[in-house]
Amino acid sequence: MEKLKALKGFKDLLPGESERWDAVASLVRNTFHAFGFSPVRTPVLERTTLFTRSIGETTDIVEKEMYTFEDWDGKAVTLRPEGTASVVRAYLEHRLGLHPLPVKLYYQGPMFRHERPQAGRLRQFHQVGAEIIGEIDPKQDVELLSLLSHFFEQTGISGLTLEINSLGCPLCRPPYRKTLQDYFQVRLGTLCEDCGRRFNSNPLRILDCKKATCKTVTQEAPASADHLCPECETHFKAVQEGLNVLKLPYSLSKHLVRGLDYYTKTAFEMTTTQLGAQNAVAAGGRFDGLVEALGGPATPAIGFAMGMERIMQLLPESQHELPKLRLFMAPLGEVAGQHLFPVLYALRQQGICCEMGKPSAALKRQMKQADRLEAAFVLIAGEEEMAAEQVILRNMRTKAQLHLPLSNLVEGISAQIAP
Ligand SMILES: [Zn+2]
Ligand SMILES: [Zn+2]
Repeated sequence: MEKLKALKGFKDLLPGESERWDAVASLVRNTFHAFGFSPVRTPVLERTTLFTRSIGETTDIVEKEMYTFEDWDGKAVTLRPEGTASVVRAYLEHRLGLHPLPVKLYYQGPMFRHERPQAGRLRQFHQVGAEIIGEIDPKQDVELLSLLSHFFEQTGISGLTLEINSLGCPLCRPPYRKTLQDYFQVRLGTLCEDCGRRFNSNPLRILDCKKATCKTVTQEAPASADHLCPECETHFKAVQEGLNVLKLPYSLSKHLVRGLDYYTKTAFEMTTTQLGAQNAVAAGGRFDGLVEALGGPATPAIGFAMGMERIMQLLPESQHELPKLRLFMAPLGEVAGQHLFPVLYALRQQGICCEMGKPSAALKRQMKQADRLEAAFVLIAGEEEMAAEQVILRNMRTKAQLHLPLSNLVEGISAQIAP
């Protein structure tokens, strides 16, 4: 029979890694809550048109990477490749815009893209994202960036840089796009094949090309931030001033782009050099055109998404581990086992992490198990002790031990082992 295995690009999270994962997820919950964001959970499966309309028909994601299939009723459905489109769909469907604006939402969950397996990328990966919908004020940009900075500060990940840029708006982008095309026109021969195509379809994306030859060409290319209309210019200045007031470090990155048309004004990335080449751990920007593109009223918005897998890679080893086992109880014989069983339950009800060995197993074997579980304390209830109506409690670090009476055992234990 064929051995059953997880699909290529789909990964199990096993004990050890999962605990660290949960710790990051709860850090997300606490931090995003403190900044006034509410959680939203959208389905992983959506109508395909949601993504073709929001991400764009001609992007790599839509053309090659989406898990799209026909549902039983013949309609095309897709496993979500990113989170923002679904959040905006939910915002419109449930008329969240009727609440006082802006609406501040965050999500965390799996996304699906059929990436080439040799790139070492996962096909089910996980993202955390936040969106502020309904407000054009540059203060919202600063608020979102302050959340991003503070979150990463708390993870203990070092060596991160917040890079920002402005992409302009439907007023100043077209003339900039023309300036950019003029610049590349005379250099078309030195660009890679992909960039040759991008020249007509989306010249801004040439700035994003990772190929060395293209990078040399783009170095001197005109920057969008130097071609902003007065409104975009004022907005970008206000964002920088806001970051200065909060003393948040950032650097201006004149060629940071977002590939999609609905992105406007502020674009940003949190990058690291720890994973080899310069890599983004989080990316986002203002998308004042998306709500309208999905059939809603013109509504400004800004958001970001960050990759859980990358965060986990960068997370310092020692951090975000749950406390180890607090108490291991070693009953020797059935009488002791029966006596300790309700004690185990009572301690767990108090939130104390504890475990009990098999009453039929020898002490040596039970102590081995306690060691393997890295128990802070071990309780030994041998026949001799039980006869004397007491148990032994041993501190595994100091090796100090004491006797506790069987009466009021739960209180006695918790008084001794409370962290
Ligand atoms: Zn503009
Ligand atoms: Zn290129």
